[in-house]
Formats: sequence, C-alpha cells, structure tokens
Amino acid sequence: MSGESYNNAYSVLENRRLAMRAKYFAKQDEINKKVPQISLLTDEITNLGASYTLAVLGKNKTEAESLRRQMDILDDKRTQLLKENGFSKKDLEMEHFCPVCKDTGFVNGRACQCMKEEIVRQRQKFLTVLSPAPQADFESFNLDYYSKKAREMSNGTMIVPYNHMKRIYDYCVAYADHFTTGNKSLLMLGSAGLGKTHLACSIANVVMNHGYTVLYTSAQSLFGKIEQTRYTDEDVISDILSCDLFILDDLGAESMTNYSLSVLYNIVNTRMIDKKPCIYTSNITSQAALQKRYGEKISSRLLGSCDTFFFIGDDIRIMKNR
Ligand SMILES: [Zn+2]
Repeated sequence: MSGESYNNAYSVLENRRLAMRAKYFAKQDEINKKVPQISLLTDEITNLGASYTLAVLGKNKTEAESLRRQMDILDDKRTQLLKENGFSKKDLEMEHFCPVCKDTGFVNGRACQCMKEEIVRQRQKFLTVLSPAPQADFESFNLDYYSKKAREMSNGTMIVPYNHMKRIYDYCVAYADHFTTGNKSLLMLGSAGLGKTHLACSIANVVMNHGYTVLYTSAQSLFGKIEQTRYTDEDVISDILSCDLFILDDLGAESMTNYSLSVLYNIVNTRMIDKKPCIYTSNITSQAALQKRYGEKISSRLLGSCDTFFFIGDDIRIMKNR
C-alpha cells in the first residue's frame, strides 16, 4: 500500500467525519433554538434509559417494562414535536457517509470498503496528475464536424465520415451505458484530432459515475514516469492491472525503451488474460506500423483482444479554429 495514497485517503475520511460532526451539531443547535423542549425530552429519555439498563441488569422485569413504556411515550412525544416543527427523528442522529465503518475507515481492524475505494481514487488522482484526463462528455461531442460527403478509403471503399462516426459514437454511448467488467476492450485508431480521446474520456466519465474504478493515462506520461522511476511505485502498475476500466491514450506518441515495452506487454497481456476491459487509442493506423513499433506479441494481443474502430474525418481541432 503506497504511503501517500493511504495518507491522503485517511485524511479524506477524517474530513468527512469532521464534516458530518459539524453538520450534526449545527442541526442540534437549530432544533434546540426552535424547540427547546426536544433536548429536555432527550435528557429524560437518556435518564430513563440508564434506569432501564439497571432494571434489566437487576432482572427486575416489571420495572424494566414500565420504564420501557415511559421511554416509548416520551419518544413518541418527541417524534411528534419534531414533525410539527419540520424535523424528523433522523435529525437527532449523526449521519455517516459510510454507515459500515462510521467513517473511521476500519471495521474490526481491517480497512473498510470505503477506505479501499478512496485509496484507489487517490492513486487515480495521482495518475491523472501525471496526465490530466481531459474533461469530456458525449453531449459535447459534435458530429457536425464530420463530413457528409463520401470519400474513398485506401482500400477503395467509399465511406461517409459522418455516418461512420455516428455509428462509432452510438457504439460508445451504449458501451458506457451498459458497462460491466465483462465489456470488450476497444482499440481506437485514427489520425490526431478526430475525437478519439474525447470519446474515450466520455466513456470514462459515464463508467466512473456508475461506480466503477477507471484509470486514465496518456501513454506519454505513463511511460515517461516508468522510465524515470524504473518502477519504484509498483502500486501504480497494480492499480492499472486491477481497475475496472483502463484507458491508455495516444499510444505512439511516447518514447519507448525495451523496459517500457515489457511493462506495456505486461499490462496488455495481464488485462487480456483477466478479461478486464481497456480502451487504447493510437494515431498509428496500420497494422504493419503497429507491429513495427510494439512488436508482434503486443500488437497481436491489441488487435486480437479489442474491437477496433478507425476514426475518419478532418482534424477537428483545426476546424474548430477556422
Ligand atoms: Zn466505511
């Protein structure tokens, strides 16, 4: 467990706990100001509760029952008063972001699920700091930038970029909406400025909002980092291998060493074997070029394990600036 991610996660939970406490005390102040009788009733119920416990411990059944009844009556009265003044009984209790561990991060000495998720989020933050995931959503993807005029592809077929991209767009929307960890991996190929990153990050946003863990990084910053540290931070790799969806953007722009290649192979191969979905984007469009750059082992796995999409059109970034 990497120290920094852990410490950050811990302070996130601590802040949550403090925020919940502050919210709780503010609420109690508000209630007491508006209906002072409530806190008197609460005191009475607490006192009766103490006597009740003693009666139960002393096996004094009749007295315990009578105390229980008095408590119930006062409790009903308090609930009624709260209701009349626009509050509810829940307002008297401290809320917790995570009811399982009450925001302490631990259950029976073990990290709670919420803590584990926060650690992943913190690492994710760390990765996105390496390469900020571009803010993108499906709504802002503009198909009008793609021509409605048919054009001839290198293999002689005629394709209307608009129609072609509309199909890819629809596929990506459905892919994100119905995402499960059993989804197929995607390989998005095409020249720069055709919206590959935009669609990949739109998928990431939806999938993340559905509660899955998503890691995004550009190839350049991931492999830059890998070269720098020669992996002291194994946690990053283990997160890449274990997250629900991994997005490796812009393959082909990075500088590759044998070491980086072996890490890339490890990522591609392990996630393929574990059947964990990935989205790879690259502006390398030919199989031969892909093979030349990454070798047979990696390129055959990329092509074999992914649904491949060729993006077609004119550079949107240039068109936007026109
Ligand atoms: Zn928890």
